Amino acid sequence: MAKAALENAIWDLEAQREGISLSKLIGGVQETIPCGVSVGIQASIPELLGVIEKELAAGYQRVKLKVKPGWDVEVLERVRHRWPGITLSCDANSAYKMRDADHLVEFDQFDLLMIEQPLWHDDFYYHSMLQKRLETPICLDESIHNRRDALAAIEMESCKIINIKLGRVGGFSEAIAVHNAAQERGIPVWCGGMLETGIGRAHNIALSTLENFTLPGDVSASARYWAEDIIEPEVLVSAQGEIAIHDTPGRGYEVRAELVERLTVRKETIRALELVG
Ligand SMILES: [Mg+2]
Repeated sequence: MAKAALENAIWDLEAQREGISLSKLIGGVQETIPCGVSVGIQASIPELLGVIEKELAAGYQRVKLKVKPGWDVEVLERVRHRWPGITLSCDANSAYKMRDADHLVEFDQFDLLMIEQPLWHDDFYYHSMLQKRLETPICLDESIHNRRDALAAIEMESCKIINIKLGRVGGFSEAIAVHNAAQERGIPVWCGGMLETGIGRAHNIALSTLENFTLPGDVSASARYWAEDIIEPEVLVSAQGEIAIHDTPGRGYEVRAELVERLTVRKETIRALELVG
């Protein structure tokens, strides 16, 4: 993640020097990106339904529910019953084991866009076994750290969709390599979130403009996470659930330096290596 922060800053700087948007620099082609939301485990199902209602009213195109043993089939059933037509997916963050396979097959009845990372965070083999039993596409998130992982997962048929996170794969270079590997093999990708501030969010937006980001990502509005974001303008999602891409040079969002200064509690200076020649 630290490497991604540094590498992405350099991509951003390069785009500013070239006078083009970061999206353009990385080869992005989409002028708006579709947005989804990730909804965490709530205290009760009625509470969850209330949260989803609010997110749908805000325009989000896809609802992803976090699931775990004890908070899954009944929850999905209630949500699907209430909103039969919405694009719905779920994310288990490795909450299940292979012995839960029969239980996970029950998820097929809910017409989910995908089930994300049902098994171990570092696994391909058992996901491949599970995918053979499921109609619902498996999406891998935690298992994918680089292009090599993506190729292994695709080759083993461990997933049909890949979630790309800039922080997880270490920056734009590897994210683009994963994107291209998936695209060449007909595997759609989407951009996950890691509770970024506006700067990381801006990078996620640029990444999501690549051609094979065909599914709504977890890239949502600043206001969903922050009372006040550290960028301006803040990230806005339209009533149609889309974010418009800025074509100003670089990431397209300015850092509110005075706000960062105000929020700073500790400072550390890292001396850059002096490069010779
Ligand atoms: Mg995930």
